[in-house]
Amino acid sequence: QLKDNTIIIVLGASGDLAKKKTFPALFGLFKQNFLPRDVKIVGYARTKMDQPEFHKRATSYIKNPNDDPDITAKIDEFKALSTYVAGDYDKGEAFDELNAHLEEIESKYQSKECNRLFYLALPPSVFIPVGKNIKEHCYVSRGGINRIIVEKPFGKDLASCRELLSSLKKYWTEDETFRIDHYLGKEMVKNILVLRFANVAMNAMWDKNSISNVQITFKEPFGTEGRGGYFDEFGIIRDILQNHLLQVLSVIAMERPVSFAAEDIRDEKVKVLRCIPPIERSDTLLGQYVSANGKPGYLDDDTVPHNSVCPTFAATTLWINNPRWEGVPFILKAGKALNEAKVEVRIQFKDVTQGIFKDIARNELVIRIQPSEAVYLKLNAKTPGLYTRAMPTEMDLTYKRRFTETNIPEAYEALILDALKGDHSNFVRDDELDVAWKIFTPILHWIEGKDGQRPKPVSYPYGSRGPKELEPFVTKYGFRRNNEGYSWPVTNMA
Ligand code: NAP
Ligand code: NAP
Repeated sequence: QLKDNTIIIVLGASGDLAKKKTFPALFGLFKQNFLPRDVKIVGYARTKMDQPEFHKRATSYIKNPNDDPDITAKIDEFKALSTYVAGDYDKGEAFDELNAHLEEIESKYQSKECNRLFYLALPPSVFIPVGKNIKEHCYVSRGGINRIIVEKPFGKDLASCRELLSSLKKYWTEDETFRIDHYLGKEMVKNILVLRFANVAMNAMWDKNSISNVQITFKEPFGTEGRGGYFDEFGIIRDILQNHLLQVLSVIAMERPVSFAAEDIRDEKVKVLRCIPPIERSDTLLGQYVSANGKPGYLDDDTVPHNSVCPTFAATTLWINNPRWEGVPFILKAGKALNEAKVEVRIQFKDVTQGIFKDIARNELVIRIQPSEAVYLKLNAKTPGLYTRAMPTEMDLTYKRRFTETNIPEAYEALILDALKGDHSNFVRDDELDVAWKIFTPILHWIEGKDGQRPKPVSYPYGSRGPKELEPFVTKYGFRRNNEGYSWPVTNMA
């Protein structure tokens, strides 16, 4: 349940995530009356700022393109309930000052029971001191609720993840902790459970008997563009595959949970992840973009070491050793500086039994997560007219067209609301992280040269679909592109 008398404290309030995601999401919830009554928001960071400067920053990414007076009035109300405190992350006294500020706000609440939600929009280097200090100096013990939201990266490999988790656990219980993977807040990812388990038709074809291969794809049309320093330490696998795409895979592949309760869902996700062995080198393709069409290559980014072999593109194939999925390749692929922006799941079904049809297109179920949410099933139908030929076409559910009145919430709005309600379903549990790192750590250590020489990624031109090796790679796992004769009428475009 949402509690009254709640303060949301954003630590790292001067930063990029807070400005671009956290405050706009809080405003979105506030505007739609989803925040608790009497909510107050407190920003905290080291940067010295007066309240107007803080308000300016915190609202700089809130959209009001037509200067709608109602939105302007709401923004003013939002500013009025938000305050800022400056202080260090490693000093207990600074958190005593933050606590004094919180208590002053709470002294005006009617009830004694007060709740605090701490959002750590901070780099991982300070997660532990901040987790410790808020527990020791800012934790309400008078019957209220304390919760902490943390952001990735949750470590760099299995050992560092375990260390981070155990350090934070000294201060915060699993029940109080909400680990964000914002893909779990995306509407189409949340839709997967409903598509699968509320439809007999879907559920019946959801296994190795019908499905040939699954691709989960992330494509970004821009490179690091001068911000590669941070990226170079992590690479595309840690940035996208090990967390976001693996989360999507677990929801696609899990068994039906006993109920929609958070622990039932997360139990099933962990169970299926535990069936996946560590990724093999031979199931991995690594790429790095080079300059093309006037666009700079990765190594042209001044913040990147000139000889970096960091992959900006990766395709890896995972195998799930359970009766439902044995032998079905799950290809996760992600890249920067590609030809388009897209995140999708593409489930390709097997060929129809040969006989009356030859070389006919395979069915594909595509769940487009972004942009422009859609679910479509590519299927064969009779060519209209006096022919008895089949042609590839589709059954289509494009959200913008089908749900014209509905506003699809931002992932961060959905997740902050869940954390306020205490619903863990769409947050990452500790054992989920552990098993996710077990799958990826050996391949990451190989890429980092822990076992010898670092593998060199193959190059691909900026703005292409990825390395030329990608097509043989997906073909090796049974993917068959079947777009001959298939076209999507542009007038229908979402
Ligand atoms: P950021 O802007 O680099 O850092 C947030 C704030 O933390 C800064 O304004 C700064 O505030 C403080 N800070 C920065 N470096 C620090 C250091 N070395 N030691 C102590 N304090 C430091 O980071 P962010 O992009 O907002 O990301 C915050 C967290 O969210 C990170 O864990 C990131 O991986 C994760 N994340 C970010 C995004 C995104 O879109 N940006 C998306 C997903 C996840 P003061 O100097 O004022 O204290
Ligand atoms: P598609 O864009 O043709 O991609 C199909 C698959 O083939 C993807 O795995 C893609 O890989 C790969 N591929 C794309 N170009 C290739 C190439 N030149 N060589 C080798 N492989 C290639 O997708 P589709 O589902 O068949 O749809 C065709 C078009 O119709 C798309 O523009 C789609 O957005 C549109 N459509 C839209 C809706 C809707 O909005 N509701 C519904 C149906 C179709 P990568 O992903 O790695 O590039």
